[in-house]
Amino acid sequence: MKLSQRITNITGGGSDGWDVFYKARRMIAEGVDVTELTIGEHDIRTDPVILGAMDQSARGGHTGYAMVPGTQAMRQAVAARLTERTGVPTTYENILITPGGQSALFAAHVATCSPGDRALYIDPYYATYPGTIRSVGAEPVPIRTHASNAFKPRADEIAEEAAKGAATLLINTPNNPTGTVYGRDTLNGIAQVCKDHDLWLISDEVYDTQVWEGEHISPRTLPDMAERTLVVGSMSKSHAMTGSRIGWIAGPKEVITHLINLATHTTYGVPGFIQDAAVFALAQGEGLEGEIAAPFQRRREIAKDILANQNTVGLIPAQGAMYIMLDVRATGLSGEAFANSLLDSHHIATMPGESFGQSAHGHIRVAMTVADDRFREALQTLVEHAENLAKQTTS
Ligand code: PMP
Repeated sequence: MKLSQRITNITGGGSDGWDVFYKARRMIAEGVDVTELTIGEHDIRTDPVILGAMDQSARGGHTGYAMVPGTQAMRQAVAARLTERTGVPTTYENILITPGGQSALFAAHVATCSPGDRALYIDPYYATYPGTIRSVGAEPVPIRTHASNAFKPRADEIAEEAAKGAATLLINTPNNPTGTVYGRDTLNGIAQVCKDHDLWLISDEVYDTQVWEGEHISPRTLPDMAERTLVVGSMSKSHAMTGSRIGWIAGPKEVITHLINLATHTTYGVPGFIQDAAVFALAQGEGLEGEIAAPFQRRREIAKDILANQNTVGLIPAQGAMYIMLDVRATGLSGEAFANSLLDSHHIATMPGESFGQSAHGHIRVAMTVADDRFREALQTLVEHAENLAKQTTS
């Protein structure tokens, strides 16, 4: 039987660049002790106090259908958080609660892209972006960035693609996979391009609580941007609730009204007991968020110390998120070949930069998601491995 073009085309037909990841999974299944630095998931589980709130809600009877747009309490909690942190007046009518940030990314593109529209995004990118865009029938258009500029986008390079016609621009700060945080100048440049070329800006801010230097700026706060920005948020990273599948879209009320229609015909909402747990978690404020983010900040310092004493492996200056991006071009290998050799010879699994687009060729992404000692040891081994490879290239 024939399947739709839309569904068969989601991956775009190419390799998904996750071969090293799958190989690591196979090794782990075979009992090999692999140091797993591939995936963006905390090495802690959801806090027991949040689980307590979830349990209490479920046992209290909140197991039926919840309100499709989200419970009033959850929509209000997210609106209050955004108002407080960004200064942009936000009410529950600006918020749709979604099953995770991924669902919000999909919904945001459904709301803004018609079939065949060009949808821009920044390369390197979070692995699902092009497939999300294809799944709504739009055409993904990557915008290359440069290691020399810490992979931050340049307004003139975005404008060049926008001038050819586009419906949307998707950005992500703090960034996965590079760990960079866009500053005000970068964001002002992006905002100007969006206004000049009448683009919707889809701003993926799921790492907004993980900033080690500088500050997280939401482009929704910039002049005349609230009306053309859809913010994607999530409890996954900020509260170690990846498996609870809860996030949101914040945007103009008219867009949210349409998105509620979409939710009615797709997800039919998010479980009430999950939302109650999320309301509880948000009420704990920045204290709990800081505790959850702290290990990544600590490990980034460990990485900086180790990498400061050598010049074979380059650290892309990163200010946030749970990853670091390392430049391994001095080894003469691609990111993929380096990640493969590190996995084969030292059982350390990292993601090739090429998994996140073409711009990060010759780089690897390291998720800082194992205990400090193990992380330190793995990075030391990684550096020695790179040094040995580099010696072979030069000799
Ligand atoms: N955006 C980015 C940049 C991510 O890294 C992730 C998850 N790794 C998501 C969105 C989606 O997260 P979730 O669906 O768990 O909220």
